[in-house]
Amino acid sequence: ILEVAQLEKSFGGTKVLRDISFSLEEGQALSIIGSSGSGKTTLLRCLNFLETPDSGRIAVRGRNLLDGSLSPQERRRNRLHFGLVFQDFNLFPQYTALENVTLARRLLAKSERTGEAPEAIRREGEALLEQMGLGDRMGHYPHQLSGGQKQRVAIARALAMKPDILCFDEPTSALDPELTGEVLKVIRQLARQRTTMVIVTHEMAFARDVADQVIFMDGGVIVEQGEPRMVMDHPKEERTRQFLARYA
Ligand code: ATP
Repeated sequence: ILEVAQLEKSFGGTKVLRDISFSLEEGQALSIIGSSGSGKTTLLRCLNFLETPDSGRIAVRGRNLLDGSLSPQERRRNRLHFGLVFQDFNLFPQYTALENVTLARRLLAKSERTGEAPEAIRREGEALLEQMGLGDRMGHYPHQLSGGQKQRVAIARALAMKPDILCFDEPTSALDPELTGEVLKVIRQLARQRTTMVIVTHEMAFARDVADQVIFMDGGVIVEQGEPRMVMDHPKEERTRQFLARYA
């Protein structure tokens, strides 16, 4: 479903991503691991069009989304292929959990004239919050929720847009350890339901058991990629071994 090829990104002369190539099949989960500054967040931001890559290809279902000849409208639509869950939730503080989940869908229904009834969008939002175990928190505002609950609202919000590929940027790193488990649990549940996902994480055990594929990045390049048991249990590269040893 996703093919990334020779992706490059620099910030003011410093190459942050170099020759990034990988592919992901529908229904699979990919974990990206690597030390701080290795380029993981920048890669996710490129996938979500929050950064513009200098060159390379990001194709969803065979269509290159970076094709220079796309119209502004096509570019806007391309963003909808990806959903992103941020490290620090990024919920709208002035809206309830349910409003956070449904807002983008309501705006899209208006701007694209999809004809979707607000009532149907609301029901879907409620179902997503139920699925996240937040059935009793729909009317709560972000400040009334714990970090783990906020992150689960953020996951529901991303799912509400029905992205082809759901991306997570260190979804538990802003959480107290006792709240990490509830967020990892819902991501595991999504993996079991064959949600296509790209997950940047520092939780090594989670990275290994949630993913069909693991990428280890260092210094802006992919050092090693493959099945979790290959990359994490039998790494070929010295750099991967050193990185994993720090988490052992
Ligand atoms: P972390 O685990 O700490 O989030 P990371 O692997 O996600 O790290 P990135 O955040 O992608 O790494 O950063 C990669 C490099 O790019 C770093 O050296 C960072 O300083 C640099 N960088 C990231 N964003 C920018 C920016 N907007 N302008 C300049 N440099 C940036």
